Order: sequence, then structure tokens, then C-alpha cells
Amino acid sequence: MSHSSNHLASTPAEKLKVLLVEDDPVDKELVLCALRNGGFDPQADSAETQEQFIACIEKNSYHVILADYNLCSWRGTEALDLLQKGAMDIPFILVTGALGDEMAVDCIKRGTADYVLKDHLPRLPVAVRRAIREKQLREARRQAEEELDRKIEELARSNRDLEQFAYVASHDLQEPLRMVATYTQLLGERYRGKLDEKADKYIAYAVDGAVRMQALINDLLIYSRVGRQRGEAQRIACTTVVERALRNLQAAVNEAGAVVKCDELPTLYIEPGPLVQVFQNLISNAIKFHGPEPPRIEISAVEKGGQWVFSVSDNGIGIDPQHAEDIFVIFKRLHSRSEYPGSGLGLAICKKIIEQAGGSIWAESQPGKGSTFKFTLPARPTAEPEEKHELAARDLVNR
Ligand code: ADP
Repeated sequence: MSHSSNHLASTPAEKLKVLLVEDDPVDKELVLCALRNGGFDPQADSAETQEQFIACIEKNSYHVILADYNLCSWRGTEALDLLQKGAMDIPFILVTGALGDEMAVDCIKRGTADYVLKDHLPRLPVAVRRAIREKQLREARRQAEEELDRKIEELARSNRDLEQFAYVASHDLQEPLRMVATYTQLLGERYRGKLDEKADKYIAYAVDGAVRMQALINDLLIYSRVGRQRGEAQRIACTTVVERALRNLQAAVNEAGAVVKCDELPTLYIEPGPLVQVFQNLISNAIKFHGPEPPRIEISAVEKGGQWVFSVSDNGIGIDPQHAEDIFVIFKRLHSRSEYPGSGLGLAICKKIIEQAGGSIWAESQPGKGSTFKFTLPARPTAEPEEKHELAARDLVNR
């Protein structure tokens, strides 16, 4: 007994459910013979007409379809069209007489896994194995994509739930807190000096706590509102956006004697409100975390790879690079309240706004050497309604 026949005998033939789209009985037998020689144990149905083909694929599931190109009554490739219409992914191999190059390319383009010429039938098993393997890979990829889509949807839903929770909690807490703050303040005003010294102190602590909590809840509300109430995007010069932010910070700028230098900034199609908030938070931090010198703040932007990179830099106390990422986390602060007041939400709000606008934000800094906050915004946001501009222009011409 030769070594190779021994090996063949010990390998069980692989079961293969085949649909033969073929009207020549001799060719059918030759195809099955080639499959057997290639280590398969084929179980074949055959279809010669469209009706038979449809009946077969509706009733059975096949590992592979082997179809001749030219049948008496119809073409094998029409079987492929039927499969695709029914969104059925069954490997489809043309087994045919001479097929011109152009025809072969056309068949592959239309989704044929392979084609095997009838006078090269020994190649058939290899083609079948490869087609089945490719289908398995397609299925694995599809499953992975479905799983990923499911995870993304799950994540989006849990994000939505969390945001809803933060919004409702901060919104509904405002009212009772306002009562606490108002009445402790009233207590303080009415009874200052009328009770003992300790009572004055306790009331002052209570007022301070309530006021702080109000500020915190207010920031939390701003945070959870980002993206909930989308305003209208518009074409706006970012210099105007910075001016608005500075107007809101006028008192702090004057008090600290801050000097703000703003380069020429681009005009973008964007919702201005949230961007004002971003600049306001970054500039107010640059003022708050100043060093021995009066704050000097520089704002600029450069275009790079299809996006604008904005930077807001200061000459303040700087940030240890190991904290460059965590400072954007909600409530994360590097200093105690007695050193620098704040809620720890300013940068988290900036991050949420910038990421929703399709950009990213980060900090570059060294302790004692000032900080530079950079963020990107797409240079050409996809939502810009160009047709609208065109329409408006045409309207003007028509008038
Ligand atoms: P808050 O300002 O209320 O503390 P933020 O989220 O705005 O909260 O900032 C988080 C932390 O990042 C700050 O507490 C501070 O430690 C650090 N930080 C932010 N901006 C600067 C800056 N310009 N210079 C130095 N440190 C900063």
C-alpha cells in the first residue's frame, strides 16, 4: 500500500451539499467525480430551469452552487441574480465551457466566487474550499460588525440615560436648593449679631455651602444641556465669538488686569453659543490660574489637515503633564477650593462641546511655564447647507 493512498483512506470525506445548475447528465457526473477526487462527499440536487432552482434554494440549504453558464432554457448567471435579490449568501461558482476573458471578469464583478472551466475540473475542489472559506470569513465579519453596532447602540443608549438623569437631577434640585439658599441668607441677614457668635458662623457656613451647591448644579445643568438643545448653526467669525466671551468675562479681566491678544480667527459655520462657552471657560481658567505676573492670554488658530487648530495660551501656573488628560474629567480639580474656587466642570463642558462639533481638545503645559489649551474644529463641517447658499444667491439674481 502506498503512503498517499493510506493517507486518503484515513481522512474522512467532507460532506458537501451542492446545487448543480446543469442540464447535461454527463457533465453533472464529471463534476461530482471531481469533487469526490478532491476529498468531498457530495450530496447534490440539480436544477435545469429557473423554477426548479427557486424550489431547491427555498427548501434546502447548500454549501455551494455550481452553475453552467449556458443552459438550454436560461443562463446560470441569472441564478446568481435570483440569489442576490433574495439576499442569500451561498458561494456561487461557474463551471462552464470556454468563457471569454471579458465574460469571466463580468461574472466575478457580479458576485461569482470563482469560475472553473470544464476541461480543468481537477481545480474544482480547491475553488469550492476557497469559496466556502471566503463565505465563512464574510459571515464572521458580518457578525463582528453586528456585534459592534449593537455595542455602539448600547453605549449610546446608556449615555442618553445618564444625560437624562444628570439633566433631571440638576434641574429638579435647583428649586429646593434655591429655597435653602434664600432662607439661610435671610436668616443670616435678620439674625446677624442677635444670636451668639457661633450661630453667625454656622449660618455663614450654611449660606456658603448652599451657594456653592447652586454654582455646582448650575454647571452640571450646563454640562447636561450640551447637545440637548441644538441651536441654529450660522456663519460666524470666531473673533466675534471670542469678543462675546470676553464681554461676559469683563469683570474678571479688569480685576486681574489681564491682557488678551487675539490673532485673526477663521469664519466658521457653527452654532455660536457653545463656542462662546468654550472660549469663556478657557479664558476664565487662564485668568484664574495666573502666576505672579498679571495674566497674558494669546488666542490663535491655524489650519491643518482639513481642520482648524485653535489655541488659548497663558502665562499661568501651568499643569503637571501627568494630569493633562484627567483635568477634562467631570469634577476633576488639581487644587483645593481655598486655593482656587471652581466646580471642576469647566473643561468637561469644553470637551463635550468640542467633541460634539467633531473636534478634540487637549492641554500642553509644564508647571510654572504657562498652559496652552488646543482644540480642533472641522474646517468644512458636513452639515453646511451649501445648496441653501446657492438658492439664496439665485433668488437674488432673479429679483
Ligand atoms: P475648575 O476651573 O472649576 O477647577 P476646570 O474643569 O475648568 O474646573 O479645570 C479643571 C482643573 O484643570 C482646574 O482645577 C485646574 O487644576 C486645571 N486647569 C484648568 N485650566 C488651567 C490653566 N489655564 N492653568 C492651570 N491649570 C488649569
